[in-house]
Amino acid sequence: MFFTFYGVRGSLPAPLSNNQYHDKIREIIRRSFTYFSAHRDKKISLNDFYHDLPFYLKNVYGGNTSCVYVNCGGRHYILDSGSGIRQLGYDLTGKKYGENFNEINLFISHPHWDHIQGFPFFLPLYAKDKKINIYGGHQNLESLFRLQQKSEFFPIPLEYYNSDIKFYTVEEGREYRKGPVFMAALKLRHPGDSYSYKFTYQGKTLVYATDVELNDSTDDFISRCIAFFSGADAIIFDTQYTARESFEKLTWGHSSTWAAIDMAVKCKIKKVIFFHHEPSYSDEELFNVFEKAWKYRDMTKKGKDIELYTACEGMTIKL
Ligand SMILES: [Zn+2]
Ligand SMILES: [Zn+2]
Repeated sequence: MFFTFYGVRGSLPAPLSNNQYHDKIREIIRRSFTYFSAHRDKKISLNDFYHDLPFYLKNVYGGNTSCVYVNCGGRHYILDSGSGIRQLGYDLTGKKYGENFNEINLFISHPHWDHIQGFPFFLPLYAKDKKINIYGGHQNLESLFRLQQKSEFFPIPLEYYNSDIKFYTVEEGREYRKGPVFMAALKLRHPGDSYSYKFTYQGKTLVYATDVELNDSTDDFISRCIAFFSGADAIIFDTQYTARESFEKLTWGHSSTWAAIDMAVKCKIKKVIFFHHEPSYSDEELFNVFEKAWKYRDMTKKGKDIELYTACEGMTIKL
């Protein structure tokens, strides 16, 4: 199993602004002066300088909203259809993930805009020979997708596409099996509800848990989370807020990096991927939030061995 991130922001797309781009360039130039003068006695190449730059100057985390591609032995799963799904559609159509993509299984955590807004732009929808199965815990998911494509909101309705689109409701507490892939769902605490999905393939388990608030939750909800997440090899978790913000924004429905680490410790999860990044944060601000999270991880007795990743567009993880 491997998974690749196509959209990592929460709430709203957040493309890199000119000012943010200029700040990066200025900071790179400033660092180059000190770097090359400090190393003037040694043979230093441009590549050495580039290598030593911090992540946020060499990369962008990405501005698209939630979308993760999961490949289980050539079967195609997609987690949410935020604006990131547009590029995924191009990659699937361009055969990046193989010739055979006749069936695509799209799992929707919940129908907030940042999780469905990219769907109308998903290129495989136009192809006659494609089966697009859309799964979700919300009973009214199909009517909400149809509403999103009413002419007041979007030029073409769902019927316009040539692919065979079908909606399925998944129930909490049931285990589903499709070929060699097992799947289960858990309802999360979030305004309007969100659903976590768990995929197991060839003995490896991935949990996707975005748009979830743990602070001020009932013991019953926390116990159900622990039971559902426990034993996963990796969890993609909502870390939109810092620990402090998560208390300032109670009931807004999101979690923090520290809460993700605490949950991973309780559930003995080896890999945690921070996801659903705050759209108002620049790459540098996000980088600083995640650096503090790494320090917090190092301070916890039982969490020292947890591998932490910060989702960025294009990042692939294999299990
Ligand atoms: Zn969201
Ligand atoms: Zn939401």
